[in-house]
Amino acid sequence: MTDPQGPDYGFDTLQIHAGARPDPATGARQTPIYQTTAYVFRDADHAAALFNLQEVGFIYSRLTNPTVAVLQERIATLEGGVGAVCCSSGHAAQIMALFPLMSPGKNIVASTRLYGGTVTQFSHTIKRFGWECTFVDFDDLDAVKAAINDDTRAVFCEAIANPGGYITDLDAISKISDAAGVPLIVDNTSATPYLCRPIEHGATLVVHSTTKYLTGNGTVTGGCVVDSGKFDWSANDKFPSLSEPEPAYHGLKFHETFGPLAFTFHGIAIGLRDLGMTMNPQAAHYTLMGTETLSLRMERHVENAETVAQWLEKDPRVDYVTYAGLKSSPYNKRVKKICPKGAGGLFTFAIKGGYEACVKFVNALEIFSHVANLGDTRSLVIHSASTTHRQLSAEQQEAAGAGPGVVRISIGTENADDLIADLDQALSKAAS
Ligand SMILES: *Cc1c(COP(=O)(O)O)cnc(C)c1O
Repeated sequence: MTDPQGPDYGFDTLQIHAGARPDPATGARQTPIYQTTAYVFRDADHAAALFNLQEVGFIYSRLTNPTVAVLQERIATLEGGVGAVCCSSGHAAQIMALFPLMSPGKNIVASTRLYGGTVTQFSHTIKRFGWECTFVDFDDLDAVKAAINDDTRAVFCEAIANPGGYITDLDAISKISDAAGVPLIVDNTSATPYLCRPIEHGATLVVHSTTKYLTGNGTVTGGCVVDSGKFDWSANDKFPSLSEPEPAYHGLKFHETFGPLAFTFHGIAIGLRDLGMTMNPQAAHYTLMGTETLSLRMERHVENAETVAQWLEKDPRVDYVTYAGLKSSPYNKRVKKICPKGAGGLFTFAIKGGYEACVKFVNALEIFSHVANLGDTRSLVIHSASTTHRQLSAEQQEAAGAGPGVVRISIGTENADDLIADLDQALSKAAS
């Protein structure tokens, strides 16, 4: 039997098989949870070869672990990348993606439409490293071009941006980043590789919060950085961590030594070794379970989101619905090009009656859980203005698509009729 790993196999096959082989020691068909910190060296020469990166193997689980390695190979395959590094959370993955590219005084150019936590990470926390971020409207291509300068080391956006269902024209953006000689990093959390494959649209790196749809049931936090293997890190002198001798690894030149796998090897040998944002094997196990059903879940998330969004749009108690899967959305025309299997399961809508009505609505829901999460099999809701965006000014809330009258929902895989009945009764209570 051939090993069902390669690109000749379909997505539904690869989401189950990529990276996983029967356990060589026991034949176990499901990937074992290698709950171990360290691995015995065959002898001193073997240990030296591993530490010199002359032989690939396992040393210590801060760097590599067999369970986590299966997940890395699986996500890399599903995204069409050459390698991947898993981390402890989506936010850790973002730092791990930027770390080899950045140094004090350098900047990233990022979309204004990002996950709220990413806006905070990029506008405040990365400054402690001496990094800067310029936020621009990624629909304004001239503004993106103008924001890139000699110190820019990455362009960053989401494929389908949380929460407003905004879809980025990745082809247009990657043309700009290519012309500037800087990598494009795409957060593909909301879309997942089933709905969108950013590397096919020119992304250099893809980052994930595996906490969300990839795991799919709200059990563990995790993240991942996938490398396309397509960026020439030695084309100019902008990326010395990858092209120049690395003093933290006895002068090794990562790009020269590892070619298209340079970024992945650097992520493990320097990133995980020194930053320690490692995914644990238990988390990798849960996420591996999740990836096995990814396409099935995403199909239902999309089908339910379309049904619910269409119902909400017709309801007189609702002001507007921002779902790119609706014909009325300005981003509907990008669905076919960027995410042809659907616009995902996440959107916002505005309830007539503003802040008070939203609070009553969220309190009245029975199936939907009021949580700060998304991408669960369970339907979830959050009223951003009274929770995640509470600290923002009214103008900032509006700009973020999180005004007082807006709620965000993450549509689960339950029966659409039950979801609509729940929304219906809660909207009635909100109006009373
Ligand atoms: C949740 C999320 C993150 C952050 O991921 P964590 O796993 O919570 O650290 C980043 N980007 C997007 C789009 C997200 O939804």
